Amino acid sequence: MEKVSVVRGDITRERTDAIVNAANCSLLGGGGVDGAIHRAAGPRLLEECRTLGGCRTGEAKITRGYDLAAKYVIHTPGPIWRGGNGGEDALLRSCYLSCLRLASENGCRSVAFPSISTGVYHFPLDRAARIAITAIREYLADHSEIDEVRMVCFDPRTEEAYRAALDAAEGK
Ligand code: ADP
Repeated sequence: MEKVSVVRGDITRERTDAIVNAANCSLLGGGGVDGAIHRAAGPRLLEECRTLGGCRTGEAKITRGYDLAAKYVIHTPGPIWRGGNGGEDALLRSCYLSCLRLASENGCRSVAFPSISTGVYHFPLDRAARIAITAIREYLADHSEIDEVRMVCFDPRTEEAYRAALDAAEGK
């Protein structure tokens, strides 16, 4: 069975155990996928986020999913692209690994990710896709407790980039 898949869609509709939010360090909401998740989860999500004291770039924090189908939301602030010499690659990799570790610790078997940092944070898309797919595959190779990871892409260009990265990683 293929454990990693790339789909086009709206992550707020996913029925995985956890969905990941490309958050900012305040964890108090924002635009893009962050705004969409807060709208769909309802105001109790923001209430819980207010108790968390923010989050560092590359790390992650977990909350309940409230009105979402997903049981949990895992919030991770991705790196803002500043040309690539500020540790952006390692920070982005760390986002994916931190989220997957929290998913494992909380008994999640399925996780959906958005394309972290490639929206208003301007991380180059193909580079982000390679980092994401590599990190996810490495984690799953050592962690059989997670059955399924879905990359949920909002637009065709993003979907194509992640599909290409996945095909390359699988040797297709
Ligand atoms: P960042 O600040 O990490 O760059 P953004 O939210 O600006 O985060 O963008 C990250 C990605 O999420 C972009 O590809 C954007 O198109 C996508 N996105 C926006 N809304 C949704 C949604 N409802 N479901 C999935 N992806 C979304």
